[in-house]
Amino acid sequence: MKPLNEYNQRILLQKDEIDAAVRSMGQRILEDYADEPLTLIGCLKGSFIFMADLVRAIHRPLHIDFIEVSSYGNDLSSSGNVRVIKDFKHPVQDSHVLIVEDIVDTGLTFDFLFEHIWLKKPRSLEIAALLVRNSVDLEERSVKYHGFTIGDEYVVGYGLDAAGLYRNLNHVAVFEK
Ligand code: 5GP
Repeated sequence: MKPLNEYNQRILLQKDEIDAAVRSMGQRILEDYADEPLTLIGCLKGSFIFMADLVRAIHRPLHIDFIEVSSYGNDLSSSGNVRVIKDFKHPVQDSHVLIVEDIVDTGLTFDFLFEHIWLKKPRSLEIAALLVRNSVDLEERSVKYHGFTIGDEYVVGYGLDAAGLYRNLNHVAVFEK
């Protein structure tokens, strides 16, 4: 596999821009939930770095869990078919829940996660996404927290992959095959 810089790589978001956005999102979450019980459920694998940074930017006790779903396989386009590979375990009946996603693209994964987690009767259910496509209507979709709006480029880095690779980049870059 070639290193990413041998592809036509364009850095979209530098690490310090991402850090600043995550810090301010963490601060907003801290203020919005006061001392109410709060659980963050990260959607694997793409959210793992964002989740790790976000929870450390929310300076209060909270529960953390993960769910893994598959929708894209190894392809670069959505199959529209979301299924649970690993479910979350933490009981959420008494807790506010924030779904943590890497990117809201078509919104199919978010819709699926929302319905799936809502069945467990959380006190409230909202989403924090690092990235949202500019085609997504944030109000209609009720995306409460998002870091950046991007166009329709396929992006990698900071947790996001191309065929399983490049999740370990510090920045977010546009990936072109
Ligand atoms: P949606 O269901 O909103 O169409 O897609 C959400 C999921 O698709 C994300 O959680 C992510 O895993 C994947 N995805 C969508 N766009 C991109 C992209 O530009 N890059 C990468 N690496 N994954 C993406």
